[in-house]
Amino acid sequence: MRRFTSTRAVLPIALAALLAGCAEPASPPATVDAPPPPMATADTAPADTSTDVHRFTIGRLDAAVLRDGDIRVPNDGKTLAVGVPKPEVDAVLTQAGEPTDTVHLAVQAMLVRSGDRVLLFDTGAGDADFADAGRLPASLRAAGVEPAQVTDIFISHAHPDHVGGLTDGAGQAVFANATVHLSAPEWQAVQAAPANAALVAAISPRVDAFAPGAEIVPGVTAVAVDGHTPGHSAFEIVDGDARLLYIGDAAHHFAVSVQRPQWTIAFDGDAPVAEASREALLARIADSGVTVASPHFPYPGLGRIVRRDGTFVWAPLQ
Ligand SMILES: [Zn+2]
Repeated sequence: MRRFTSTRAVLPIALAALLAGCAEPASPPATVDAPPPPMATADTAPADTSTDVHRFTIGRLDAAVLRDGDIRVPNDGKTLAVGVPKPEVDAVLTQAGEPTDTVHLAVQAMLVRSGDRVLLFDTGAGDADFADAGRLPASLRAAGVEPAQVTDIFISHAHPDHVGGLTDGAGQAVFANATVHLSAPEWQAVQAAPANAALVAAISPRVDAFAPGAEIVPGVTAVAVDGHTPGHSAFEIVDGDARLLYIGDAAHHFAVSVQRPQWTIAFDGDAPVAEASREALLARIADSGVTVASPHFPYPGLGRIVRRDGTFVWAPLQ
């Protein structure tokens, strides 16, 4: 069962396709391939909400979180915490200061300048109908970068809220000069889904399919986080002693997914594997102290994971 949808997909189609993957049998426990990083030294600056650009640094590298938009998903026991009684989910949301009628997920991409390279991590939702998004091109320009200047795009996985910005409304590639890096199993799955034909046609000339866990370009290493999609990857960005982990969809909600990693989210293609991966990654992040960038935690989604009360808690940087 393929779980990829086109960038034009609407939420019901995407949800149906995603939910269809939840009945798969369990696979062997997921592994995180890269070695534990030392303490992070990333700094952060005050958010610039006027331009949707949040600048920060990773060692000597200039970086920025670029706001794309928002997604609201129902708090219905079928989406974010499948089968969990609503009062239990509401309690976690309320304690975190969040509404309980719908669940809010931010959507943001990350920009890193490394030497002559201009690196972009995921591309937001584009004009996907299920999201109030598509601000990435404007955010990118506000950060001083034209789409044609992006040299490398790292795709955590091919769900429409991460690849939607790769193509414009006419189906043309937005980032004309960028190599598109995604894992080999992810690319294989994308190509196998007929619904992705337009996306495949637009990006295939510039795709570089990497082996899970590989160093892709100097200073950027993939970290396999299995279960969400066939080749879902986090990315570790390193400069000297400074490290940052872009976690993709290893966790979706800053409170629910972090404090209750055992609760299944309908977007995970293989829920048992994804749950094991999520818990293992959260433990690794907490134990190493590495700075995290999340595409779905509240903007700008930079922070750390700490252990508390037998579980994990999100600690935003500002
Ligand atoms: Zn996502």
